[in-house]
Amino acid sequence: MARSRQTKYLLIGGGVAAARAVGSIRDLDRNGAIVLVTDEPRMPYDRPPLSKGIITGDVRAREISSNRRFFYLKHRVRILRRTSVTALQLEGAEPEATLSDGGRVRFERALIATGGRPRRLRVPGAELSGIHTLRTVADAQSIAAESGDGKAAVIVGGGFIGLELAASLSQVGTRVTLVEPRDHLWPPSTPPALSEYLRSYLESLGVTVHTGIAVEAFVGEERVRAVRTEAVAREQHAPAARAAGGEIACDFVCVAVGIEPNSSLAESAGLETDDGILVDEKVCTSDPRIFAAGDVCRFRDPFSGAARRVEHHENAEYGGLLAGANMAEADRRYDFLPTLWSDIGALTIDVAGDETRYDSLVERGRLPDIAEPSGRAPTAATAYQTRTHQERAKKASDGNSAQSGWIAIGFKDGQPLCYFALGARRADLSAAQLLIRNRAQGAEPGNAQTSHMREQLADSSRALPEIARELLR
Ligand SMILES: Cc1cc2nc3c(=O)[nH]c(=O)nc-3n(C[C@H](O)[C@H](O)[C@H](O)COP(=O)(O)OP(=O)(O)OC[C@H]3O[C@@H](n4cnc5c(N)ncnc54)[C@H](O)[C@@H]3O)c2cc1C
Repeated sequence: MARSRQTKYLLIGGGVAAARAVGSIRDLDRNGAIVLVTDEPRMPYDRPPLSKGIITGDVRAREISSNRRFFYLKHRVRILRRTSVTALQLEGAEPEATLSDGGRVRFERALIATGGRPRRLRVPGAELSGIHTLRTVADAQSIAAESGDGKAAVIVGGGFIGLELAASLSQVGTRVTLVEPRDHLWPPSTPPALSEYLRSYLESLGVTVHTGIAVEAFVGEERVRAVRTEAVAREQHAPAARAAGGEIACDFVCVAVGIEPNSSLAESAGLETDDGILVDEKVCTSDPRIFAAGDVCRFRDPFSGAARRVEHHENAEYGGLLAGANMAEADRRYDFLPTLWSDIGALTIDVAGDETRYDSLVERGRLPDIAEPSGRAPTAATAYQTRTHQERAKKASDGNSAQSGWIAIGFKDGQPLCYFALGARRADLSAAQLLIRNRAQGAEPGNAQTSHMREQLADSSRALPEIARELLR
């Protein structure tokens, strides 16, 4: 018979946001009961290795748990796996969750950290087997099982996941063709120099890159064997461009065209949503007993002032920590400059701030030379070496290197707003973050006029931390 349970804290989700909430609840409340519900068969885990080490075989699935199993025992967390929360009843004094096994959980506070699900392509043949998306360990394992020497893969989508996957698959000998409808790799706001560099890098690994090409259909009887494409008609092109199409033969396909937030639970419970669950600066939803964190929520970024849904690991970690603390009666406000990294083969790219809203860029240093085509990137680069925000910070080079890498600082209304960096030193990233944080907090960087600041920042012969110190004096 389905059980009825009672808990103080209900955490919904099996990703890093729910996992991090446990620790911050326990820092403030040693005894309140915690139940974590995840629809996956695994303990909560980190997803970044799924497109990297899990595909190349450098990382095993059991190595990517967000916390060690002992952690949940120590903190007396009841974990319900292979179970989803199907409804939240928020009327009345005692809110209650309904579970997929028919059970019910009465709770005082809940965190919705249900993340997102991969967007699908609505084209003929989309239901054929051999077409993958990538969000879970099971997805990564089925892609890894299809890949290998002599296999041909088509990746649809030239964003974060598409590029990481292209590099990882080519590293294990798969012939990869990447198809992207825009004429640009990575998100639209990526500086053109970086986007072009990424294309050249992938090509040096043996990946065939087609931009300006959209998928028209998947072809096959039961299983995909080709991807039919058409050139995308662009405003500047004659409509005849659409006639140019083709077919790319393959053994399997990975569709990586973004995610949609899993916010239907919140919507049907009557919480406010708008492409994600709306939260305030304490990551509290429109019901004071319910919090939301990670990829599923939309919050006001205190540094750009924009309402954003950020789909990156470190923001989900931070949101989970913040939600847990506020669920346990803390009174903390969102104060994280969103940062992300992406490992594409041997490259690590770091981005911080609101990278979608800059109006001009100042570039420092130069993008490194691309090594001779090797077809295989160094394996160490794809190993999962990063567990927490702090550990990632340590991974960045420590400042002893003679090369200071490349960094492009995005400006909005004359003030630093974000950066994109490749191979940059940790000290440089920290200095750029300091400049962005100070801008947003209204502290004018010294008395410097904007043009003076831009000139200073563009001077690659001087170290960025030294320039930042001077500007912030
Ligand atoms: C392949 C891949 C590579 C990535 N690489 C990077 C990277 O290099 N750098 C970076 O910054 N970010 C990366 N990300 C993004 C990062 O992993 C996400 O931002 C992060 O996973 C978000 O965490 P979350 O806890 O909000 O959601 P998720 O990790 O999506 O977890 C949500 C969990 O909730 C479960 N769930 C959903 N609905 C219910 C329900 N009703 N009941 C119970 N459980 C439910 C889901 O099954 C899932 O287990 C990557 C993502 C992927 C998929």
